Amino acid sequence: VRVGIGDDAAVLAPGSGDLVLTTDALVEGVHFSRATASPREVGYKAIVVNVSDVAAMAASPRWALCALTLTDAVDAAWVMELLGGMREACDEYALWLVGGNLARGSEVAVTVAVTGEVAPGRAVTRSGAAVGERICVTDALGAAAAGLRLVSAPARSVDASGRAAISRLSRPVARVGEAGILARHGVTAMMDLSDGLASDLTRLCEASGVGARLELDRVPVAPGATPSEALSGGEDYELLATLPAASVEGAASALQREFGVALTEIGEITRGPGVVATTLGGRERPLPSDGWDHFRSTIAR
Ligand SMILES: [Mg+2]
Repeated sequence: VRVGIGDDAAVLAPGSGDLVLTTDALVEGVHFSRATASPREVGYKAIVVNVSDVAAMAASPRWALCALTLTDAVDAAWVMELLGGMREACDEYALWLVGGNLARGSEVAVTVAVTGEVAPGRAVTRSGAAVGERICVTDALGAAAAGLRLVSAPARSVDASGRAAISRLSRPVARVGEAGILARHGVTAMMDLSDGLASDLTRLCEASGVGARLELDRVPVAPGATPSEALSGGEDYELLATLPAASVEGAASALQREFGVALTEIGEITRGPGVVATTLGGRERPLPSDGWDHFRSTIAR
């Protein structure tokens, strides 16, 4: 960083790799509520969701810029806490907040841009999946959706797995190191799960020009979450990746050894068309990209 935060613009010395750029906004009333999320959590999450997109390209995060839109209902202490959360995430993922802007508006919005770097030509896109490759996910799915369900119904008592789910909603994890390991083990396509497995797998298949067979019973469901939340719930920020069959075991053991994170095979890339889901009974049905509830009604029919 040659010139950091506080001047008209930041000045940075570029690295020798390919530059990776992403941006994402958290808008009050759409992505968070000031009633249930602390400013520290909102700031932290605004950085992490961008870092997750950089990680999904198998890149390392470098710099962040933020643009805050604030309303009259927000005081200085709220903003200081928000910035504290951003700094905490930047420390954790080793990137620098190099600039920002404040504006007044009709709703609170936290817009962040993050840059990353990857060795030339080594970015992993969504479009590299080939027929016969295995579909894998990191850790378990549905925690953020379960957390959202629990914070939306605060009268109910919450057990340990529920508290863990709420914490995954407010403090998501970006799989930066994990993505690097998958890249070293021959991952062919990758994305982070922001909108839910059903819709994100459909996107990956469309980008790669392939289909997929998803084995529903192998999808790892996070403690406290339902199978429906694992399939359709967004904001998990786990990695969805395709690998040649021979690479899965090596990648899974490296991930477990270095990060204590599971890699689970949940299906196979097919010629298509479309994504089909199989159940324990072996029945096969098209998987609608809007997820489980629609799928269940299809089965019932
Ligand atoms: Mg993404």
